[in-house]
Amino acid sequence: MKYYNEDTIIFLDGQFVKIRDASPSLFSQTLHYGNGAFEGIRSYQTIHGTKIFKPYEHFERLIQSCRLLHIPFHYSLEELTQLSYQVLEKNNLSSAYIRPLVMAGENMALSRTTGSSLMIAAWTWTKYFTRKEIDVCISSIQRPHPNSTKIEAKASGNYVNSIMASNEARHRGFDEALMLDTNGLVAGAPGANFFFEKNGVLYTTPLGSILPGITRQTVIEICRELELPIKEKWIKPEELLNADSAFFCGTAAEISAIGSIERHPMNKPWQSSLGFIVQQAYENMVMEKNYAYVIV
Ligand code: PMP
Repeated sequence: MKYYNEDTIIFLDGQFVKIRDASPSLFSQTLHYGNGAFEGIRSYQTIHGTKIFKPYEHFERLIQSCRLLHIPFHYSLEELTQLSYQVLEKNNLSSAYIRPLVMAGENMALSRTTGSSLMIAAWTWTKYFTRKEIDVCISSIQRPHPNSTKIEAKASGNYVNSIMASNEARHRGFDEALMLDTNGLVAGAPGANFFFEKNGVLYTTPLGSILPGITRQTVIEICRELELPIKEKWIKPEELLNADSAFFCGTAAEISAIGSIERHPMNKPWQSSLGFIVQQAYENMVMEKNYAYVIV
């Protein structure tokens, strides 16, 4: 994956600069200790032009993440949205992934920093998973206990845990990991939330041990709109070995069908699952087509 070339422009601390001219601090707490916050946002080439999907929701979460991590951050939702559109425009991007990163100021001690630095970069985006249906394993790496970090913050340091789980899954020959919480109940993917279908109902993990995904919330809204039964509940991993269907959802992953969990295939073909309906509706929604036309 190539994220930039010599002409790529990013926003860094009040200026649009070429990446080669950008010099972020090597003494930021983010680089050394993971005390930073970031977002992952998608833009789409819609019938109404280039549109960022749910920018306010993402930037609200970024501001909240900074607050939870005690990182000073003073941009408004509107400023952040406009800056993101400008980054897209300056790089001639339409269907893209936007990455804002708030880096804590210079401080090699473990105390809170006085300053922070904002970078916004973007790059062309297609699909997160190349396979149409992914094979998932139950990870031996658990999500951190909610008392051990701010699990609801999209904190850079939390992703060491995600990378470990993803690496383990690929090492074992799977496409992705499904992670459990410290009670041994299903949490989600290293970078996405999880849903499964049983007897005509979709289930997802309640908030508490997971990142409150914007896509997860969108899926819940789509289900309400289309009158598909959806429930939040604590899920035991054993329940999944007999699931009718399942999927991951996230800004990057969108709605990604799961073909098997620990080599147990899903009972239903993806095309006849509730997830398939949600997948089509989500695609219509991000492309600003009328998703209510999905045939249920
Ligand atoms: N959980 C984790 C751990 C993630 O990194 C992500 C991706 N941001 C998600 C869930 C999904 O969140 P969203 O739908 O807001 O992208």
